[in-house]
Amino acid sequence: MTMILEESLTLEEVVVPGYEKIIRATQKSVGLDAIICIHNTMMGPALGGTRIYPYPTFESALNDAMRLAKGMTYKSALAECGWGGGKSVINLDPKKGKTKELLQAFGAAVNQLQGSYICAEDVGSTPQDMDIISGATPYVVGLAHEKSSGNPSPFTAWGTFRGIQSVIKKLFNSDSLENRTIAIQGLGSVGYELAKILFWEGARLIVTDVDVQKCVEIARLTGAKIVSPEEIYSAECDVFAPCAMGGIINEKSISLLRCRAIAGAANNQLLKDSDADILFSRGILYAPDFVINAGGLINVSQELTSDGYNPFLARSKVNKILPQLMLIYDIAEQNRYSTHKAALSLGEYRLKYGIGKRFDPPCFHHSK
Ligand code: NAD
Repeated sequence: MTMILEESLTLEEVVVPGYEKIIRATQKSVGLDAIICIHNTMMGPALGGTRIYPYPTFESALNDAMRLAKGMTYKSALAECGWGGGKSVINLDPKKGKTKELLQAFGAAVNQLQGSYICAEDVGSTPQDMDIISGATPYVVGLAHEKSSGNPSPFTAWGTFRGIQSVIKKLFNSDSLENRTIAIQGLGSVGYELAKILFWEGARLIVTDVDVQKCVEIARLTGAKIVSPEEIYSAECDVFAPCAMGGIINEKSISLLRCRAIAGAANNQLLKDSDADILFSRGILYAPDFVINAGGLINVSQELTSDGYNPFLARSKVNKILPQLMLIYDIAEQNRYSTHKAALSLGEYRLKYGIGKRFDPPCFHHSK
């Protein structure tokens, strides 16, 4: 079905089995070509970021939106945030052509979904972009206002730290990081914060980033050993913490690993689901990415409560990432399968029985 709205905003439905709703939104006059993908709203409205990226084809943009939206369904179900899974992508180079008109047209498309999808900042989009989008729809989070949650990265970093504690606890029966060696790939918003937390917890660090300056800064602050982006996979360590890009756990990289566990913030770390089975057979404990990196989602969720953002509640919920992961390791051990499969099974169980389902509608303080 195709709907032509306002002047030339066109919404075209793309039907894909297993997905509740996928919309392609285009407006030629402003150069908009976007996809809004809602995977599942069983637990509540779909919440997920708006990625702005120059995809080579419509199919590659669609695949990315679908993969990310499905990931959000499981991430929210396991974090018990009461959100469904959704994501949107705007096919555009964020450094070129990101105009106010384009973002407002995108906001008008989001608005047509009447709150079943809520957008947020993601790769290529900024809080300023969300501010412009909010001129066309209330269904947006991550804006600067007195009840907002602010930068999610410190919460993601803290949740990742709790996840690193969980693998150490499982392997060594103590969650102390004193003298444990952690290898961090990527020192961006999350990795940089994480390195500082790990330093104060007594860990020894090995770090890499394509931006050498970031490595030099962290080495100065924490005494970390710097290695090249290629060497990080074979670094001898207790925990490898991927905090850069996705797809880095694959057949080739697994053969190089000399770690006991993988626990990091990057999204979609496994190139294929079956890579989790290879890790399992090699005895490498894996903290599933969509569980360990939920801190940012948990934090932003707190701003949509009727009382507005409460950092203490956000902190206590992010701390639950540790027991949540311990439960997943136990399920995996009992069933003798990978921790990735255990996390998916637990997510599916919660979805089936609506455990953590949202009953109160979200409250958008910026639209008051
Ligand atoms: P970022 O863009 O701030 O940082 C990424 C860092 O990785 C940069 O410093 C970059 O130079 C480095 N990098 C890129 N390619 C690299 C390579 N080949 N080798 C080594 N370093 C490389 O991103 P971020 O916000 O810190 O997020 C990091 C990861 O965590 C991403 O996968 C993101 O999707 C995921 N994540 C982030 C959040 C959040 O709150 N920011 C929440 C959930 C998941």
